Amino acid sequence: MKKLYAVIGLGRFGGSICKELSKEGKEVLAIDMDEDKVNEYKEIATHAVIADSTDELALKELGFRNIDHVIVAIGDNIHASILTTLILGEFGVRKITVKAQNNYHEKILEKIGADEVVHPERDMGRRIAHSIISSNVLDYLELSDEYSVVEIKAGEKLSDKTLIELDIRKKFGCNVVAIKRGKDINVSPMPNEQIIMNDILIIIGSDKDISRFQKALVNEED
Ligand code: ATP
Repeated sequence: MKKLYAVIGLGRFGGSICKELSKEGKEVLAIDMDEDKVNEYKEIATHAVIADSTDELALKELGFRNIDHVIVAIGDNIHASILTTLILGEFGVRKITVKAQNNYHEKILEKIGADEVVHPERDMGRRIAHSIISSNVLDYLELSDEYSVVEIKAGEKLSDKTLIELDIRKKFGCNVVAIKRGKDINVSPMPNEQIIMNDILIIIGSDKDISRFQKALVNEED
């Protein structure tokens, strides 16, 4: 059976999730209490309906009990976001992803049963900050408060050296899990793998260790 998705709140974040899921051919029910927003998504989502997601009966009538994955993308109204998450939890929705507005909101959402809490502005801000500090940091993904994965473009300090020569694991405590070269990706590279200029290294480690590695071997912006 086809997986059913619902997006509640069609602001920039919810709207872009809705567009992307629809583009990928997924069945999406789009909800917003704003009529103009709903009209905007009539041609995009499978169904677009005006509804207040804090109205339990309305959600029940829309068949929310049968939705596999709901994305709650209500922005400023934290109260509505929490109440909606509670209702969806009681319905037994299999997966609930909620956009958090701040750290307190995030904590509450985790406590009341959101399966996934996302914080797009904060996360994107962090990623951009890392690429501003060093233009060689292409991407930065936080795994936990302590651990991250970074994508680093090899500059002069890394080029023409093998992983064993660089001894990244021993010296910096982080691991090169893959090397991307053009369209090719070498997962779990061997110690004798030689890095060439502009290779992209995918590195996993603690933030502290990654930072030490960057300071030593990644060129900083002027
Ligand atoms: P962003 O653009 O960053 O995603 P935003 O500022 O557009 O966020 P909001 O406008 O606060 O976020 O909320 C997103 C949408 O959620 C709005 O279109 C709003 O009408 C809708 N919304 C808010 N509360 C409810 C609710 N209880 N039920 C349904 N839709 C809601």
